[in-house]
Parts: sequence; structure tokens; C-alpha cells
Amino acid sequence: MSEFSVICFAESKSQLLELASYASKLSQGGPAQVIAILPAGTQAASEAEELFSYGATKVNVLETDCVTKAHADCLANHLSILAGPSQPLILLSSTKFGKEVGARLAQKLDAPLATECRALNLTEEGVVVERMVFSGNGISKERLLRLPAVVAIQPGAFTPERKNAVAGSVSSSKLECASKLITKEIKPKGTGSVKLENAERIVAIGRGLQKKEDLAIINELAGSIGAAVGCSRPVAADLGWLPDDRWIGLSGHKVSPKLYIAIGISGQVQHIAGMRDSKVVVAINKDSGAPIAQNSDYLVVGDLYVIVPALTKAIRTGGSGA
Ligand SMILES: Cc1cc2nc3c(=O)[nH]c(=O)nc-3n(C[C@H](O)[C@H](O)[C@H](O)COP(=O)(O)OP(=O)(O)OC[C@H]3O[C@@H](n4cnc5c(N)ncnc54)[C@H](O)[C@@H]3O)c2cc1C
Repeated sequence: MSEFSVICFAESKSQLLELASYASKLSQGGPAQVIAILPAGTQAASEAEELFSYGATKVNVLETDCVTKAHADCLANHLSILAGPSQPLILLSSTKFGKEVGARLAQKLDAPLATECRALNLTEEGVVVERMVFSGNGISKERLLRLPAVVAIQPGAFTPERKNAVAGSVSSSKLECASKLITKEIKPKGTGSVKLENAERIVAIGRGLQKKEDLAIINELAGSIGAAVGCSRPVAADLGWLPDDRWIGLSGHKVSPKLYIAIGISGQVQHIAGMRDSKVVVAINKDSGAPIAQNSDYLVVGDLYVIVPALTKAIRTGGSGA
């Protein structure tokens, strides 16, 4: 594929580093430009430096509150103006917001769009992507026939690699919000809000828990190993025992911790879609035939009300407590 540029946009800096790093390796010698769109903030100067050391060649610092207001239409408009006639490849994060921006952007540019991507190759025939399909149970290889093209990459699909820092150029833009949406109120997340995508250890709880108060034993176990607490969808969406930012799966967060402990979770495909990239999975379930058994490295069969406190005690006492 002849000379091309890549524009990268993600709501979080860690995801933007992933995209910039991946973009910089897309062709021999790298693309003509890797332009990272960085939401403005007090750390913008140092974050721009960091982006250069991960492969960005240009950083566009964007003054906007459209990211926090989730005004995908404004951001899509801005990205389409930046793309101009240059026919770039545009990389986004395959988050709920990223996919919303991507769909609007593809429509504006009349460009092909691929979401839930885990790999990407540039060939003479076009952009070949590997997308997760069927709740993450299959991989579909698809070819986007032309540039510009919009590709949304799953967070955590690549590990960003630091290069020798090469100074790039920094520009800034101001995005006047022209959304037809009116943000009535922004409610801050609860004080315990966590970024599950970044967690190295996760203790996740499902409907095997009988009542909200019993979350105490789950929190204790998580605390003993420095883990974040996540859950299956019913625990957040139906029961409301944990906030939405803890729910893992197809319609929730996609995580890839080193250790994932699934407690009282049956392991339906929609849940597995969010945690299948975990390095080591330990399941605690009273049913040895639960589907989670097929997706675990270790299965502890038994009552979580017996096993979880015993495990916490053993960890706290260095193995002598159970
Ligand atoms: C479009 C769509 C999107 C969805 N997206 C998601 C998603 O993103 N994330 C998600 O999680 N789900 C999602 N779901 C729901 C999903 O299909 C399952 O219903 C859900 O994951 C089940 O949650 P669970 O495992 O906690 O509950 P259950 O399936 O009820 O499983 C509870 C488990 O706990 C075990 N158990 C019970 N008591 C004990 C005990 N005392 N000790 C030990 N084990 C015990 C049981 O053996 C059982 O295996 C989605 C569904 C649809 C249709």
C-alpha cells in the first residue's frame, strides 16, 4: 500500500499509547505520519512526549469537553475534518464510545468501518483486519478495500512498545461543541470506581452470591491480593449490587488481567467474551459442570461461602489458615 497516514483517537491515554505504538509498526519504515489526538489537560505536554516515544510523529492537543460529555457526533466531525482529503487510516478504541465515534465518522467519510479488531495488516489489496465475532467465539478475517478506513481496536489487544524518543510536532485545536445532544447532568462515578482494563488481578462475583451484604467476603479476598472487584452482568445490571463500571463481558468491560478469579459465575459466552484474555483463570463454583470450567485453568468445586473466607484466611496467614 502506498504512503499513508494514521490518525489515532482514544478516550484514555493508555489506549492511545497502544494505538500509536501499533500504528507506527504498520508498514516497513512506518506510516508517513502517526497523528495522536490527545484531549487537552494539565499533563498534555508530558503526555505528548510520551506519545512520541511510543511512535506518534504528531500530537494534536484537542481542547474539548465532548469526551466527558460523550458527544460522539462532535468528535466524529472533528476527526473527519482532520482526515480531510488525505485518506488516512483512522484507529479508534473499540469501547462503547469509540464505536459510536467510529460509526459516525465512517458515515461522514463514506469509509469502511471494522470494530472489535484484534489485528490489522496493510496489503496491496487493502486493510486486512481480524475481528472478534459471535461473542468472541470466532475470529473473522475481513478486507477493507480502500482508504480512508476506520478501524476500532479492542483495548489490551497490543502491548505498547517504547521506542527511542524522536521529537515530533505538537499542534492544538479547539473543538466548539456543536452537538445536537444536550447534556443535562453528569453524575460522578462512585468513590470506589476502578479501571478494570488496567487491573492485574480481578476477583469477579456472579449470581452465586445470595445477598448484597455478602460482597464483604468478596472485598476481603480482593483486598488480600490487591485485586479489583468485578462482576457478571446480573450483579450490576439486574441486582444493582455493584456499579456498571464493574461489569465484565460482551456488553461490559473487556479485561486481560494476570489473574482472574470467577466466583459463583456460570461462565455464559457473554461473560467469557470479556475475560477470555486473562492469563490465569481460577473459578470457584459449586457446579463442576458449569461452563466456566471449560474456560478456567483451575476449578475449585464447592460452596463459595466456605471457600472464599478460607482462601482469604490462608492468604492472610501465609498458607496456614485453611
Ligand atoms: C445480549 C446479551 C449481552 C450480555 N452481556 C453480558 C455481559 O457483558 N456480561 C455478563 O456477565 N453477562 C452478560 N449477559 C448475561 C449472560 O447471558 C448470563 O445471564 C450471565 O453472565 C449470568 O451471570 P452469572 O454467571 O452471575 O449467573 P448464573 O448464570 O445464574 O450463574 C450463577 C453460578 O453461581 C453458581 N453458584 C450458585 N451458588 C453458589 C455457591 N454458593 N457457591 C459457588 N457457586 C455457586 C452456580 O452453580 C452458577 O454456575 C448478556 C446477555 C445477553 C442476552
